[in-house]
Amino acid sequence: MTSATGLGADRAIEVLNRVWGYPAFRGAQGDIISHVVAGGDALVLMPTGGGKSLCYQIPALVRDGVGVVVSPLIALMQDQVDALRTLGVRAGFLNSTQEPHERRAVEQAVLAGELDLLYVAPEGLGAGAVPRLLDQARIALFAIDEAHCVSQWGHDFRPDYLGLSMLHERWPDVPRIALTATATDATRREIATRLDLTDARHFTASFDRPNIRYRIVAKNEPRRQLLDLLRAEHPGDAGIVYCLSRASVEKTAEFLSANGVVALPYHAGLDARTRAANQARFLREDGLVMVATIAFGMGIDKPDVRFVAHLDLPKSVEGYYQETGRAGRDGLPSTAWLAYGLQDVVQQRKMIETSDGDQAHRRNLSQHLDAMLALCETVECRRGRLLAYFGQESPAQCGNCDTCLEPPEAWDGTVAAQKLLSTVLRLQRERGQKFGAGQSIDILLGRETDKVRQFRHHELSTWGIGTELREAEWRGVVRQLLAQGLLSVEGEYGTLVLTDRSGEVLRKELTVMMRREPERQRARAPRARG
Ligand code: ADP
Ligand code: ZN
Repeated sequence: MTSATGLGADRAIEVLNRVWGYPAFRGAQGDIISHVVAGGDALVLMPTGGGKSLCYQIPALVRDGVGVVVSPLIALMQDQVDALRTLGVRAGFLNSTQEPHERRAVEQAVLAGELDLLYVAPEGLGAGAVPRLLDQARIALFAIDEAHCVSQWGHDFRPDYLGLSMLHERWPDVPRIALTATATDATRREIATRLDLTDARHFTASFDRPNIRYRIVAKNEPRRQLLDLLRAEHPGDAGIVYCLSRASVEKTAEFLSANGVVALPYHAGLDARTRAANQARFLREDGLVMVATIAFGMGIDKPDVRFVAHLDLPKSVEGYYQETGRAGRDGLPSTAWLAYGLQDVVQQRKMIETSDGDQAHRRNLSQHLDAMLALCETVECRRGRLLAYFGQESPAQCGNCDTCLEPPEAWDGTVAAQKLLSTVLRLQRERGQKFGAGQSIDILLGRETDKVRQFRHHELSTWGIGTELREAEWRGVVRQLLAQGLLSVEGEYGTLVLTDRSGEVLRKELTVMMRREPERQRARAPRARG
């Protein structure tokens, strides 16, 4: 270590003690800060709650000039700046929500060298007043927060982030630090390339969140299952419930409220005032449940979120990890709970088929969905799968996820898979027909429904050959075949179709191990007896 970095490290610790009142750095914070204080570029991958902010705030205080923080979270800038000011840090922001006189005051402070930290929106940096202002100022560093917004594959993509490679061209001597809680190698490489950070030092923290208990259950009555969970394990706790659609957000918030849980809705269809008011209440009050689309949550710093529940399947493991990561920032035990069913798969495949973008884009979305399904259907430790997805090691058993706590029984589902796939094959080959999962299951169970009679499906050779399993178990078989790529769904009605690999099962070349469906959902709270 050179004496310059040694000096930087001393000053960094001094600032940490004096301004924040913390005794020591956490994890890699100290290394990251020394590196940036010494003028190096950095790319930091650290989970939510890991302490990313200090990684740029302290170097901004230690180095000469103003630290410029690029953040997409315009709605939170005021709060962030207020929080810094109460610590005595000279902070300000520039964005489109300000009055001209407010902007002028901030600009003057920058020119007079009276600001330590300046928050700006990415769109402000492209051209116009902000870059001209910065040309006349001394800049300590650029921090690019939520750097995964530059990834075109991610669900937080912001086109303005693509323009940020200009920072290096315009101010080549100013160190840059990009930070994100998104952890895959692919995203990391994409950030490095797009932000022109190929020479930056990469810091990757462990993505394990040991205090979060992961649980994934089969969905049957999702709102009721959720209510049972809250009553049994999280009465009076603050939490976030994610739903895919605005309509489902509204319905779920009403359902919870009607059942004595204080719940508020949040989605992009609500007017800005209501959204801001609901968010403020969630942050300020104790024990509120926010029912939201994924529009809610990025940058929300509420330490005591005790649970994050998903009523619909997230589109990717990255999304799932980010959203569940909002639970338990304070390190206390928290729950990540997801209910997922066959309909989720059908719906998401449909969304991918009809999505904009080219073939490669759709294939990418499909791979993300497949990885998410594999996490749902695994018989192994959830945490292990999650960390493996991010290229990180973990013990074989974490002891704090549903599969570790109540190991699911694995069973040889090869014969069941053959029965199901040959039903799909026969419908297709002998009848030229495609149906959804429901019809195939009715055929296997030998149910004489109107639809079975109408299409004479009771004449198929697979009719009634599957009575050894219950309907819920057959749905599990379908889900698991989908998750393993041995079956696929397509079209508006989610019709089942064979894949290139289905033949391996039909020809008995493959053993298909499956996860046993629990008898009944265990989340039910015991009801009072009369
Ligand atoms: P992130 O942005 O990575 O989600 P934050 O920067 O918001 O995380 O930090 C999470 C919490 O941890 C904050 O309340 C922060 O004050 C606290 N924190 C960060 N670093 C330290 C530290 N070295 N010692 C004690 N608390 C810390
Ligand atoms: Zn586990």
